[in-house]
This record gives sequence, structure tokens and C-alpha cells, in this order.
Amino acid sequence: MPRILVIEDEDSVRENLVDLLEAEDFEPIAAANGKIGIDLATSEIPDLILCDMMMPEVDGYGVLTALRQDPLTATIPFIFLTAKSAKADFRQGMDMGADDYLTKPFTRAELLSAIMNRLEKYANLKKYLAPKNTVIQLSPKMQLLEISLHQAINEHNFQEFEVYYQPIIDIASGKIVAAESLLRWKSSKLGMVSPTEFIPLAESTGLIIPLGKWVLKSVCQQIRSWHNAGFYSLTIAVNFSVLEFNQPDFIDKVVNFIETNNLQPNCLEIEITESMIMQDFNSAIATMNKLHSLGVKIAIDDFGTGYTSLIYLKNLPIDTLKIDRYFIQNIANDYQKSAITKALIQMGHNLNLQIVAEGVETEAELSFLRQHDCDSIQGFLISRPLPAAEFEKFLLNNKSLSI
Ligand SMILES: [Mg+2]
Repeated sequence: MPRILVIEDEDSVRENLVDLLEAEDFEPIAAANGKIGIDLATSEIPDLILCDMMMPEVDGYGVLTALRQDPLTATIPFIFLTAKSAKADFRQGMDMGADDYLTKPFTRAELLSAIMNRLEKYANLKKYLAPKNTVIQLSPKMQLLEISLHQAINEHNFQEFEVYYQPIIDIASGKIVAAESLLRWKSSKLGMVSPTEFIPLAESTGLIIPLGKWVLKSVCQQIRSWHNAGFYSLTIAVNFSVLEFNQPDFIDKVVNFIETNNLQPNCLEIEITESMIMQDFNSAIATMNKLHSLGVKIAIDDFGTGYTSLIYLKNLPIDTLKIDRYFIQNIANDYQKSAITKALIQMGHNLNLQIVAEGVETEAELSFLRQHDCDSIQGFLISRPLPAAEFEKFLLNNKSLSI
């Protein structure tokens, strides 16, 4: 049972946190001021510390500084809790080595997600630890990445980010019927940063929330602009992380951007993965049902790699199955992959789902998929993900591809 030290001078806040942590099966330890907090951290060595920033005498910065100087406590994950939301305070905390920062009022889900992410990261780090008393330091590259990501969002106002679009082609007609939006980051300091590096970081720091909101807003504006240009039937898919999907205002956000841009809800498709659904099945289904009743489309992404029992599929309010690229690669020559994919296509069609094959790279893969009635394809055979302007050219030049 992980032990969590709560350092908070306001009695009601501290007691609430302790109750919540107990209810979630953590072992909370409470400190009513910074001095007691430092003593308890040193004597108890908790697994994680939640610390208020504004406290009399020794404040949150003072606690963090003291703990980071002692090898025994230097590596304990440290999350600031504060009502301050000024950018300078935020940066100061992160620069001093805080692991995360939650601005009050935060939701229970945000708090628990921050705790779980940090505990998980710490557990992974501990595995690689040399003998005791070694001070863990994030690699300078990871530190720089984290600081740069904060700056790109909070100071540079998303200017370093761009949404790319990868075409999805209907096999029968050869027409572009949809595109998947994919986030790219060109940092002024680091150059192009791979999404496989910065998305997990954005998720573990909670920065995925503002970032995902910006993506959704950009995509909805872009759909409006393409519809104005005459591409009425284009659906754009957006990927969401579990943290975003579980935000209490997630549906409101989606509805707000659809209405602001005067869009038909069915031109937006939400891509979620099987594991996201299985993490909290009932709450995921409730959110999916609400979105679906509004007319928003829902796709299961990377299908086949997760844990969804096929029987569940018939109960899910979904429109599309995206078969994971693993099954598609070399499908024509791999008996097992081809058997599974044929079954998935057939089963999906029985449930009235559209089937998209991901990661199609060769003519042989396409011809297999065509032969077995897959609906559409996405992958380098058609196009890599493109900046909006290039995708628009692609739309204009390739109204119907000869595939
Ligand atoms: Mg996707």
C-alpha cells in the first residue's frame, strides 16, 4: 500500500485529502506545516509527497529544496498543490524539481491520475536504481523536454504545434472519406520532437489536457474550413488519451467546439483504444453513449492488440473498427494474421461497423484487404500524415484515386 505524505496547513483541505487517499487504499501521513513535513519525509520515507505551496514559515519551495538536498528524500515524487496559477510560480516549481503541479481546485480524477502516473514512473525508475542512497536524476534530455513542453504550451501559446492529417481512402470508390488528425511538435529549441516522446510526457504531467483541447479546437476549425471549400462529406478523427476522455467536462468541450464551428456532429470521429475502455468500462460506456447520441462518431483504435473481448463489441456504441497495423503488415503472406483479419472484417460487418485497416504500405496488402471486403485503408501506400495545406492539395488533386 503506497504511503503518501500530505503537507498542507489548511485543516479542511488536509483532512479531505487524507480521507480521499484512505478511500483509495493509500496510506496517508499528514503534516500541518512545512517543518513537520520535512521531518516526516525524512523519518517515514513516503512513496509520494503532496505539498501545498503557500504555507507560513517553511513554504512548499522550502520543503522541496530541503528534501532534494537529502539523498534519502531526494527522489521521492513531489507534487505541488496550490491555488496559485501564475506562470512564473508554475515554472519555478518545475525548475526546482517538482514532478507535477496541480492547481486548486482540481478534480479527484486529476489528483488520482497525477498520483498514479508518478508512482508508476517512480516504480520504473527504482528498478534501475543502483545501491541505496543514489540520487535519481532524470536525464538532462528528459528535463529539457519537460521544461520545453511547459513553455510551448504556457508561454508560446501552442505556436510550435501543428495538426497533420493522414488520408483514409474508401477502397471501393478510391475516394478520400476521412482523415486522422495527428499532433506534431516543432520545438524552437529541440527541433521536431517525436510524438512517441512528448505524448507520454504530456500525459504524465497532465499537459495533455490543454494540448488535447487545442487539438480539438484546431481540428473543428479546420473541418469548418474544408466544408466551406466544398468537402462536405469529410470526417476527421481525433485521438484522445484516457485522462482527457475521463475529464468531467469532456463532452461539453466536444459539443462546444462542434457548435462554435457550426458542424454536423458526425463529421467528427473520436478515436479511443480498447485499453481505455477496459480501464473503467462503465464510465467509458456512459461517455461513449452520450457522444454517440449526439451524433459524434466513435472508432476503436489499434483494434486487436488490447483486451476487448469480442463479445463486448456488440454492446459498444461504435461506428468504426481500426485494425492495428500489426495485423496488416505482410498480411498476404502470414496465415495467422490473414485469418484473424478476415474474421475481424466479417464480424465487424455483422455488427454494422466500418472497418479501416491501419498501416497499409504495399499493393499486396491492399489487394488482400480489397479481396476480403475491408472498407477503407490508411497508411504510407496512400500518404504519410500531411500538414493541413498539403492535405488540402491532396484533396483537390485526388478526388478519386485509382487504387
Ligand atoms: Mg489513432
